[in-house]
Amino acid sequence: MVSCKIIDGKQCAEELRAGISVKVAALEQKHNMVPGLSVILVGDDPASQVYVRNKEKAAQKAGINGQLIRLPATTTQDEVVRTVQKLNGDKTVHGILVQLPLPKHIDSAAVVQAIDPAKDVDGLHIENMGRLMAGLPGMVPCTPLGCLILLQKFAGGIAGKNAVVIGRSNLVGKPMAHLLLKENATVTIAHSRTGDLPDVVRGADIVVAAVGQPELVKADWIKPGAVVIDVGINRVGDRLVGDVAFDEAVKVAGALTPVPGGVGPMTIACLLANTVEAFERSIAPARR
Ligand code: NDP
Repeated sequence: MVSCKIIDGKQCAEELRAGISVKVAALEQKHNMVPGLSVILVGDDPASQVYVRNKEKAAQKAGINGQLIRLPATTTQDEVVRTVQKLNGDKTVHGILVQLPLPKHIDSAAVVQAIDPAKDVDGLHIENMGRLMAGLPGMVPCTPLGCLILLQKFAGGIAGKNAVVIGRSNLVGKPMAHLLLKENATVTIAHSRTGDLPDVVRGADIVVAAVGQPELVKADWIKPGAVVIDVGINRVGDRLVGDVAFDEAVKVAGALTPVPGGVGPMTIACLLANTVEAFERSIAPARR
């Protein structure tokens, strides 16, 4: 039996956040200003409320000026776009995040494209997506960035490995695949129409599961010793489970992230890192 390393995302995120706090303090001393992050929440979706509160708290703990803008569910698309535009012009705001999903009457893409790409800390603006694809510096979506940091730490090298990303969303799957490609992995992107998914996954040294299907990935899909990053967050009864059947996968994988306590904390830490990066670029735009 392979001995599996349980990847402690909470610990890694704490280390990252500690480094960010130190950096923010140094930036404040040098520029007499701290990075500012504005999070827009439209409506009262309970899960979104928890996410934004966590982001605001984490920002404040790191010394970042976190501001939560709550708008009622009846807010029109134009009003949300105008709020974004106002933040685009605010020199004290370096990062803007619109919490998704937005209410159904609002076109999320139109709102995201209204964000100044330099302040797009979620990395969802097409300019940033294009930059990632072209291998240029830009804002990288927080969740795949967090996964990459875990892989850099625990995969024992990424270059030359076979990586399978399950899921092709703009938020996770696609940027994850590009990040792995940039690290010289051989990357396969699987999705709901992939034929024989278990067989595709069996060829992977690195698996990133970003699907949203509870415990989809079984132990007999995993190559012994493979590094498995579970992005999924699924509520099953009163339990949170990932996209990987943890209890059985742990007997085969070489390293595995738990849910919760794996990728989730890294996502928030990377949001803070992106905000600090946006601040630094606003001071020295040539870095962009
Ligand atoms: P999406 O629903 O946008 O995308 C899911 C992807 O999974 C799609 O590409 C879909 O394929 C694919 N898929 C669905 N069913 C299957 C299947 N049976 N076999 C193979 N592929 C399948 O989700 P997200 O990318 O936004 O999120 C994925 C998961 O990650 C969710 O559980 C979400 O809650 C979680 N998440 C966690 C975060 C964290 O911080 N830990 C942050 C963001 C997300 P197709 O394109 O063909 O439909």
